Amino acid sequence: MKIATFSTQHYDQEYLNQFNTGHEITYFKVPLNEQTVVLTKGFDAVCIFVNDLANEDVLKVLAENGIKLVVLRCAGFNNVDIEAANQLEIPVVRVPAYSPEAVAEHAIALILTLNRKTHKAYNRIREGNFSLEKLMGFNLHNRKVAVIGTGAIGKAFCRILKGFGCKIAAYDIYPDPALLEAGIIYGTLEKTLADADIVSLHCPLTETTHHLINENSLKLFKHGAMLINTSRGGLIHTADVIEALKTGQLGYLGLDVYEQEGNLFFRDFSEDIIQDDLIARLISFPNVLITSHQGFFTKEAMEQIAVTSFLNIDAFVNGEELVNQIR
Ligand code: NAD
Repeated sequence: MKIATFSTQHYDQEYLNQFNTGHEITYFKVPLNEQTVVLTKGFDAVCIFVNDLANEDVLKVLAENGIKLVVLRCAGFNNVDIEAANQLEIPVVRVPAYSPEAVAEHAIALILTLNRKTHKAYNRIREGNFSLEKLMGFNLHNRKVAVIGTGAIGKAFCRILKGFGCKIAAYDIYPDPALLEAGIIYGTLEKTLADADIVSLHCPLTETTHHLINENSLKLFKHGAMLINTSRGGLIHTADVIEALKTGQLGYLGLDVYEQEGNLFFRDFSEDIIQDDLIARLISFPNVLITSHQGFFTKEAMEQIAVTSFLNIDAFVNGEELVNQIR
């Protein structure tokens, strides 16, 4: 198959080339969107990532250009209009669980860094400052952690938290039987948020979860609680979170995702003036830690993404069942 692959960095090329099962791949650095969809003429499939856009308009042009398959090299699919794809009869396949541990471990890294301030200690020591002033953290042992969404990543996150001796409370529209058996208590969203020292988001971005964390839900939080989002930026109303940080209602914020990340993440703007005032304000807080969507970024996950993407493509070519199709 001739595959147009969008939003590619050198590491994507490295892993896709290594596990390619014989397809002709063209790499585009640019994301797929209304402006770039023209590039797909003459290809059979597109391979896209988290910040590519496959809305109805883009999908219509893909269909006109003869694209027969949309291959997501990620788990989340909030950037694809699945209904429109179904109507156009373009199957959309994804990599449902390439390495839940990769993202769960990154959520833990955000918690530990925000809490024990190792990023600040690193810089201080390099400048010859060995003071402990303002570096005090808290024990994770016995702390109450709210896990919102207990799918593959939420479950891996719970397993790690158990090792730390945390008290886990969970909220999910479909509670997980294995976690219930392991003694994890599910409650309503409101109660789960209200009881927690740390809230970590692991549910997908849908119409229901869009801006799940907003002015009203933030009022339910314990004063000074920590919020971690490694799921999708749109789960959080950023301006409301900034207000909660300013009053101290929110004590710490760890983000691996950001609602407007498509304009920023995966690129170097170190010599530019950042025009996004919300992220500029977030960066200015001493108790906010932002990473640019790197939760997935481990060798194991990159390998699994490449392997599963080609399994999905080969299944389509061979007319086999598309086990990872989003319907
Ligand atoms: P999953 O589908 O295995 O689990 C999602 C869970 O959320 C399910 O248990 C589901 O029942 C639950 N859920 C759905 N709607 C809900 C709602 N309204 N309220 C509460 N729970 C709800 O997905 P996963 O593999 O665990 O991934 C979770 C999310 O993590 C993905 O949707 C994606 O957005 C994000 N993700 C981020 C990265 C990263 O690099 N930061 C990488 C992979 C995935």
